[in-house]
Amino acid sequence: MSAAPDQARLAAIRRCRHWIFDLDGTLTHPVHDFDALRRELGVPDRIPILEHLASLPVARAEPLRRRLDAIETAACDRAMPRPGAATLLAWLRRSGSRVGIVSRNSHASVCRTLVAAGLGGEFDPSDLLGRDEAEPKPSPAGIQRLLDSWGAAADDAVMVGDFLFDLQAGRAAGVATVYLDWDGDGRWAGEADLVLPGLTWLPPSA
Ligand SMILES: [Mg+2]
Repeated sequence: MSAAPDQARLAAIRRCRHWIFDLDGTLTHPVHDFDALRRELGVPDRIPILEHLASLPVARAEPLRRRLDAIETAACDRAMPRPGAATLLAWLRRSGSRVGIVSRNSHASVCRTLVAAGLGGEFDPSDLLGRDEAEPKPSPAGIQRLLDSWGAAADDAVMVGDFLFDLQAGRAAGVATVYLDWDGDGRWAGEADLVLPGLTWLPPSA
């Protein structure tokens, strides 16, 4: 069980006007079986899938990338929103905040996942960045690209995610980081400014 969130930090994060989210596992329940993906694509243990593909010669990597795209796309239609996702996005819309997504998945799968989860209407398509629009997390490139396009300062922005790379990308971009610790194990709490057990804590009515 997670400890009560730091109320001062929570209040500071609620004042941010630019919100960047991870998608799979953050706004939606995770649909990807990464162990099965690794076996299918022949990715060695402990090496991230995208980084492994990037290390291969083009002729070997290309068919694997196409296979990855196909597997991702097939999984999208099973996407379900996490509890509180729609309420959080509606609050951000009402308060005039900008929202975007930075994902290690493809742009097409991000769009399809949002539609399946009923969240597609909450985002401007140009604010959805997949692995082909910016260097993937943990690089801060996607976050920085959104901040640049919004004319936003890093100290008025927050990155919300459920995985180490989300938090590392946020830290490297200089934005506040929120770790959604769904399992309550505190695994990456040291990388985040705020640890929350779920999205329902973020709107002020929670
Ligand atoms: Mg995730």
